[in-house]
Amino acid sequence: MSCSRCQGLMVREFVVDLHVSPTGGRAWRCVSCGHLVDPVIVSNRKRYQQAVRLSKRSKRHLDLVAA
Ligand SMILES: [Zn+2]
Repeated sequence: MSCSRCQGLMVREFVVDLHVSPTGGRAWRCVSCGHLVDPVIVSNRKRYQQAVRLSKRSKRHLDLVAA
């Protein structure tokens, strides 16, 4: 697995999670730049991107209705 930021080597890492997490604290960290990826971060990023996409689609729809 390579880093999405710098293409460096990603290694598995155990992250201390103060909340009970379904991921069990497993994550990936880039040895070059320190970029951390865990399933919770990926899930939150996908939800944010989906919300932005829906927001843009709604704005486009409103623009078409107003025209
Ligand atoms: Zn990196």
